[in-house]
Amino acid sequence: MTDCLFCRIVAGEIPATVVHETDDTLAFRDIDPKAPTHVLVIPRAHHTDVAALAAADPALAGRVLAACAAVAEQEGLAGDGYRVIFNTGRFSGQEVFHVHGHVLGGRPLGRMLAA
Ligand code: AMP
Ligand code: ZN
Repeated sequence: MTDCLFCRIVAGEIPATVVHETDDTLAFRDIDPKAPTHVLVIPRAHHTDVAALAAADPALAGRVLAACAAVAEQEGLAGDGYRVIFNTGRFSGQEVFHVHGHVLGGRPLGRMLAA
């Protein structure tokens, strides 16, 4: 058994509200949404962060980005626009060390970073 939260969601050991899936990606609603739409998109395979994923399997990194775009389209965000965030490492505030793209939208998102 793994102690990685998102590997456990992939394995079905922890429930999640799944909104999109492919053979090697999974997308589910963030448990503490920061915008009207807030979905996390992950590869099923464990990689610590986006840098590790891009180094180990760039084709999979591309499919994760394609899944982010598919989620945005499916959630009705594509017209008005949305933001995709990959927190990476300590200064970013990354809390779960299984790479995930945050797909955020549904209202104007304001400045990219707090002052
Ligand atoms: P990060 O700070 O980039 O590592 O983001 C981790 C995200 O995972 C946060 O937005 C959390 O709200 C979210 N999260 C934590 N536990 C769960 C869970 N069980 N299901 C869905 N989202 C979660
Ligand atoms: Zn994992």
